[in-house]
Amino acid sequence: MRQGCISLGKVECDSCHNIIPHAERYLVVDEEDGVEVESGKKSYYCLNCSLEKGYAEYREERGGRVLTFFPSEPEEVQPGQTARSEEDNG
Ligand SMILES: [Zn+2]
Repeated sequence: MRQGCISLGKVECDSCHNIIPHAERYLVVDEEDGVEVESGKKSYYCLNCSLEKGYAEYREERGGRVLTFFPSEPEEVQPGQTARSEEDNG
């Protein structure tokens, strides 16, 4: 699984080996053999490498581009609507 964090200035990117500057966002991913898993070895990636690996993407929102580590997140639920999953497909 992946987790977005804020650097305290001592985090090294596992891909490009740059130090992630203080207050920059970075990503922690559990990986096994380079594949994201629920629980495994923790890898740390700066924003650039997260983008390159497809772990992050820019999303167009009102007010500009926002970087998200969770591109597959569902759209926001509108107020007054209840989120529920319907499982009658197939
Ligand atoms: Zn990097």
